[in-house]
Amino acid sequence: MNFADSEIVGAILTKEGYTLCKECGEADYILINTCAIRDNAEQRIRKRLKELKSLQRQRAWVRIGILGCMAERLKQKLMDEEENVSFIVGPDAYRQLPYMLEHIHDGEKLAETLLSDSETYADIDPVRYDTNGISAYISIMRGCQNYCAYCVVPYTRGRERSRDPQSIVREARELFEKGYREVTLLGQNVNSYRWNVDTESHKAEVGFPQLMEMVATISPLLRVRFATSHPKDLSDELLQVMARHDNICKCIHLPVQSGSERILKLMNRRYTPQWYLDRIDAIRHYLPTCSITTDVIAGFCTETEKDHTETLNMFRRVRYDYAYMFKFSMRPDTYAAKHLQDDVPDDIKTRRLEEIIALQGQIALENNQREIGKEYEVLIEGVSHRSDKQLFGRNSQNKVIVFDRGNLKPGQYAKVRVLRCTAATLIGEVIENR
Ligand code: SAH
Ligand code: SF4
Repeated sequence: MNFADSEIVGAILTKEGYTLCKECGEADYILINTCAIRDNAEQRIRKRLKELKSLQRQRAWVRIGILGCMAERLKQKLMDEEENVSFIVGPDAYRQLPYMLEHIHDGEKLAETLLSDSETYADIDPVRYDTNGISAYISIMRGCQNYCAYCVVPYTRGRERSRDPQSIVREARELFEKGYREVTLLGQNVNSYRWNVDTESHKAEVGFPQLMEMVATISPLLRVRFATSHPKDLSDELLQVMARHDNICKCIHLPVQSGSERILKLMNRRYTPQWYLDRIDAIRHYLPTCSITTDVIAGFCTETEKDHTETLNMFRRVRYDYAYMFKFSMRPDTYAAKHLQDDVPDDIKTRRLEEIIALQGQIALENNQREIGKEYEVLIEGVSHRSDKQLFGRNSQNKVIVFDRGNLKPGQYAKVRVLRCTAATLIGEVIENR
């Protein structure tokens, strides 16, 4: 999401005549887009700011700005604590950037952190940075108001709002015409995407399943992915739309967070393990080939060994293809910070996290071993990092497959048979290209 936001910032500044540097050392302005989701994300930014001090000693005119969630969370405090920061800009205030850059020359410090109920940057065509020219992100909504007890996002990104579907379809179509072959629609909880069409002749509501259908019909050669789905809102209707379109990728990221009913309640996730497992059954029913990935938090407030075992059991039941696994990090302002104690000792959090990682590693390897012999359509993304004689791409399930180059090129589709695997990668051979 930050990556997509940086591309919006890039577009806003490019329009005013600014250009992107390849190296930090060439820049007049350094903009750091930040995350506040866990404390270590913020610590990394603090460290980066320290490293930039020596650069600023050589180039005294360089101005550093902090963008995004950390700017929003800390506001003026961040500028007071970090003397080399000249401006801070929250996620809804990027349109102010050109004005701000114009006005900080005299050593003044500026902050703009107002959150908006309506800003979606719908009219801005993001500048695509660091792209392979094949896959791109499209933000379809901003903000979140689910208020999961551990999460800082509702405080740093403001209220949930959806973007005009026509502007999303236009952006996807333009990307396709430029040669892109995959778009990922982004939102904190895409299943609550909603747009009311209300003209004199036409009244309708566009929900996420309809939006997916609109994007998927641009071309069968354009793959469509999305992230993230909140389990409480994952509808059968969406699964049916996914089943109808081959180019909607068969991969669902469904963050579970915990396998314990008590912890899920305390987290304010608003589903039970049984509800979650029913959603998994629905995915397997409508989309038998679908891969499923997740997020999980180890060591949330009051978590016991029994709760942790239930999380491990959830992993054994679902057999995720991939998981993002985190140690709980208490975030200021959240419900947990106000009402709960961060009472699981750090060494226990670490041990539980390691147990989840080890189990998931084993499951991912076993899942990949079951792929051997299967054939997949792969969208080729680039040259393999290991050998320039090999290419890599992903199948619909988002699994990376490496294979010999032949006369194929990135951006093409190829049919590949899986021959071998590791826990992270499939190795295959091309049997057909188109
Ligand atoms: N909107 C998405 C998640 C966005 S944040 C959703 O609801 O699924 C990405 C992940 O970071 C979360 O799923 C959660 O697993 C993790 N996370 C969020 N806050 C955290 C915290 N305080 N400590 C540890 N992990 C956290
Ligand atoms: Fe955070 Fe929950 Fe919103 Fe996801 S749904 S961004 S975890 S508050």
